Amino acid sequence: MKKALVIGAGLGGLATALRLSTQGYRVEIVEKYHQAGGRLNQLKKDGFVFDTGPSFFSMSYEFEEFFKYCKINNPLKFNELDPLHAIYFADREKPFLMHKNLSKLAKEFEGIEPNFEVKARKFLDQAKGIFHDTEYRIVKRNYDSILSYLMALASVPLKHAPKLLKTVWTDLSETFESHEVKVIFSLVAFFLGATPFDTPAVYSLLNYTELEHDGYWNVQGGMYKIVETFLAELEKRNVQIHYGVEITSFENQNGSISAFIDQHGKRWLSDVYIANSDAASFRGMVLNRKKYTETKLDKLEWTLSPFTVYLGVKGKVPNLYHHTYFLGDNFENYANNIFKMSVSPQKPYYYVNVSSKHNPEVAPEGCENIFILCPMPDLRYKKDWTDSETLAENIIADMSKRIGYDLKVNTLTRTIWNPIDWQDNFNLYKGSGLGLAHGLNQVGGLRPANKDEQFGNLYYVGASTVPGTGLPIVVISSRLATERILKDHGN
Ligand SMILES: Cc1cc2nc3c(=O)[nH]c(=O)nc-3n(C[C@H](O)[C@H](O)[C@H](O)COP(=O)(O)OP(=O)(O)OC[C@H]3O[C@@H](n4cnc5c(N)ncnc54)[C@H](O)[C@@H]3O)c2cc1C
Repeated sequence: MKKALVIGAGLGGLATALRLSTQGYRVEIVEKYHQAGGRLNQLKKDGFVFDTGPSFFSMSYEFEEFFKYCKINNPLKFNELDPLHAIYFADREKPFLMHKNLSKLAKEFEGIEPNFEVKARKFLDQAKGIFHDTEYRIVKRNYDSILSYLMALASVPLKHAPKLLKTVWTDLSETFESHEVKVIFSLVAFFLGATPFDTPAVYSLLNYTELEHDGYWNVQGGMYKIVETFLAELEKRNVQIHYGVEITSFENQNGSISAFIDQHGKRWLSDVYIANSDAASFRGMVLNRKKYTETKLDKLEWTLSPFTVYLGVKGKVPNLYHHTYFLGDNFENYANNIFKMSVSPQKPYYYVNVSSKHNPEVAPEGCENIFILCPMPDLRYKKDWTDSETLAENIIADMSKRIGYDLKVNTLTRTIWNPIDWQDNFNLYKGSGLGLAHGLNQVGGLRPANKDEQFGNLYYVGASTVPGTGLPIVVISSRLATERILKDHGN
């Protein structure tokens, strides 16, 4: 029986462990944090339960594929979100509700965007074309060389080429007139950890995935149920997870890894190794590769850092939906500067999720658990986070005013994770929340590969290798890494 050692118990690591155990591998996992899940983690405090990061996902069928592959009856209940989210603008008391039905959505924009439905229909049809012309040809596959990637790109119908050359914002500006619709449709760029002003328009395919294709989903009982389900299955398969173990160096022999070594000097031996740690920074920090020195890593494009607040509040908070965005009045200026600011903004833009609205068990009776996510520059640009309390206070005061409920007075518990916490907890490079960015120079065959360039028994899974970030995409990543391993080493 071959052995696989997985470094990291994030979604990518857990999913690969389950796939490989299904294929007959004996699997062991090491994890630096004190519990599994990586970014998809859980915080329990003062009777409240918080999901630490992800609060919804698209492409739910990727989870179905995963469970089928691993011969597991999916015990999770997925709830579809509709409206997808609510969006507050600074100058408007009532939020816009992002309904999935276009006619219903058109009513939200009456008097704001003439002919919304016709324009949106045309826009989404183009986005649909991009999604289906790239899903299998480009996204869900391994590449053995840059040439094979370029050949795959060449097979994509040429009609999509113009969307490679403009940004999400330019594309939307050519389609819609109103500032509001442009801003709302452009929010998908933030799901990639970037802004609509620097994201190529091909990612309008995300508008299609959210509004039409499979929509957005969350999990009954909270997102951490995904991790709990995976853990229960791993336990049945006798897969051991060792927490508090950080891999810091390695030994090699004849072109293969012979051992990974943890912070205490313990050697971890296996036939095959899978790093769920960030695929770029692991190559630099642990393998000491020249191509990934800190200077070179700093020159890559990274996604925004999360500043997150976990707030347990007394009372049923009004005017907050399951997912709510709070935007200011200077969208373009804010988005264009947010990446590189060295101080916290006075009027931050943020996103709020209240999972207790649908899962009463995650908060004491009559209370709500409020998760706030404010995208911030990473630690290359803003190193000093001593202003964390002030930033959290600003956000809480702003939200209280806009929803008409005093969150400060009603706070029962509050925890803040700034980019330094995210970096330290999960080895996220300089606190970058979604890993490497998804510009055209950092995707497909140009992203750090899931097969090591030097060692024949080392593979990668997760957000910074192929295909990219986000829960369903990381589930695909686990399939691609597993395919590689089975092809090279058999089962
Ligand atoms: C705040 C936030 C909100 C998000 N919201 C969403 C959302 O709503 N929907 C969505 O689809 N996606 C969302 N994402 C993105 C999503 O969380 C990630 O794409 C996904 O969880 C990444 O999984 P992973 O397995 O690649 O990595 P991780 O979750 O980072 O797991 C890697 C694991 O490896 C461990 N590790 C790292 N280095 C070592 C080492 N040297 N030794 C031992 N262990 C190590 C880490 O501690 C970690 O547990 C969000 C991310 C953040 C940060």
